[in-house]
Amino acid sequence: MPKTQASIHSPTPANLRRLAAALRRGELVAIPTETVYGLAANALDAKACRKIFRAKRRPGSDPLIVHVTGLAQAAGLAHVNPAAIRLARHFWPGPLTLVLPKKPVVPDLVTAGRSSVALRAPAHPLTRRLLRLAGVPLAAPSANPFAYISPTTAEHVRQGLGTRIRHILDGGPCPVGVESTIIDLRNPTRPRMLRPGAVSAAELARVLGCRVPVPRGRRKRPAKAGQIAPGLMKQHYSPKTPLRLIPTLSRAMAAKLPCDAALIYFRRPIARTARVSEYWLSERGALREAARNLYAVLRRADRGGHGCLLVELAPVRAGGLATAINDRLRRAVSRL
Ligand code: AMP
Ligand code: MG
Repeated sequence: MPKTQASIHSPTPANLRRLAAALRRGELVAIPTETVYGLAANALDAKACRKIFRAKRRPGSDPLIVHVTGLAQAAGLAHVNPAAIRLARHFWPGPLTLVLPKKPVVPDLVTAGRSSVALRAPAHPLTRRLLRLAGVPLAAPSANPFAYISPTTAEHVRQGLGTRIRHILDGGPCPVGVESTIIDLRNPTRPRMLRPGAVSAAELARVLGCRVPVPRGRRKRPAKAGQIAPGLMKQHYSPKTPLRLIPTLSRAMAAKLPCDAALIYFRRPIARTARVSEYWLSERGALREAARNLYAVLRRADRGGHGCLLVELAPVRAGGLATAINDRLRRAVSRL
């Protein structure tokens, strides 16, 4: 494992060619996607994928999402059914991951021994170019130490994994900012959402023409190895500072806080509380902006030396993003 700091590569054509060659040789490369930065390896090379688990300190029971150029490449890795074709045609490239029965070419290590594989065609133009240049599908979980806050800039990746990997491709800040929606299509007549993301259950239902059940809020018990989606584990995406959720933050509540607490509002407050530090996800309460800023704000607050973080939930209006933000916030709270 390299002891030197990872290089952040600007996306020049020569660098993209070099990074594609590194991926083909079995090396790891952190890649920008529209959701969060991923830590990529050749998905067909089990030895290369083992490096992902080692670098992230990720348990082998947590399967990896495989990134593809599109449906044609997906069909080489999984048994693609009509529901998958419909969704891929509608939402790919984009923040939707399909769980399908896998073909033997996908190493068991990638799927943590499951007979299904999770597939997604990312929309980020640099990663699409890298996928085409590499000519292989790329297994890529988020490029952060396991269970910490996901990275949405190249610098976040360097802060978390800088001494454990060599290459980071800089694609700027991620435009969506939360991980993909995951839908289980192993049984195409009973699709089921496993993780909320930017693509909502309502949008999926509209395209499929049937109901798509969403995951229930909080699990009573933490997920165990062997359960279908360990990415839904109770504790995930967590800052080191204790975090508590508040439905809405009132001024009266803020006045009673210990002075080492920090408040994280969904929307910039009209008046500031001088006593404690305050952060916000969005200037005017726009969901897309809040999702885009979520992890950067949590990271900033986590480095602020606060005793605890009190976070306001996103108002659940229609739409996948509020559900996705609140899902990640709920999991940032739990301590196993
Ligand atoms: P991430 O760590 O953000 O890349 O998310 C990867 C997540 O995708 C895992 O933790 C699982 O929740 C989900 N996933 C990957 N492969 C599968 C699979 N074969 N079946 C179900 N969920 C999967
Ligand atoms: Mg992750």
